[in-house]
Amino acid sequence: MTVWECVRPRIIFTAEDIRQYGYCKRKPYFRHVLKARLQPSIKMLRGEKIHQKTCRAKSIEKEENREVSRYYNIYLCSEALGLAAIIDYFEYDGEKITLVDVKSGAGASKNIYEGYYLQMAAYALLVEVCLDIPVKSVLIRYEDDKKEKLLQIDFKAKATVIQILKRLREMVENETIPPPTSNPKKCTDCEAWKICRRC
Ligand code: SF4
Repeated sequence: MTVWECVRPRIIFTAEDIRQYGYCKRKPYFRHVLKARLQPSIKMLRGEKIHQKTCRAKSIEKEENREVSRYYNIYLCSEALGLAAIIDYFEYDGEKITLVDVKSGAGASKNIYEGYYLQMAAYALLVEVCLDIPVKSVLIRYEDDKKEKLLQIDFKAKATVIQILKRLREMVENETIPPPTSNPKKCTDCEAWKICRRC
């Protein structure tokens, strides 16, 4: 590590950047190097609307009969990691804390994509670093069918997040554009298509 690396503030990426990187390594380049204002896709707008209704408008909720408390929209930021995120909510039943992420769509039919899995690993890592609470799983709540899935987060996933943060920092510092995704089907759904075009 150089002296310069010790003193300069770290770029803060978000857990959403980790998800985007998992989808296509090139996507964070447009946001962090070109500073492009990308229009959110219809799918993203729908997800935002659901989050607004189920989480963002809330702060604390108590379910007296189950003695469960929910703490919404917890902002966590670690300068050491160079990572920040807003956790949808924590559920506390007097004994254990469960980290919950709300998703649109129907749970039973949903595959867990790599980018989303890494985003959940980023949440787990942030909770461990900022709150000193070990996290080995994240509960996914699907809004459309109210189903749940417990996602196991292993050490490898957290280490991958740290590696991705390093690569993102290098990408921004060197202004190097990563190659396009090897799966061109992903481009049809991508909000960066107009400025990317896989060139
Ligand atoms: S258009 Fe395709 S290659 Fe370009 S950023 Fe989007 S997914 Fe990646």
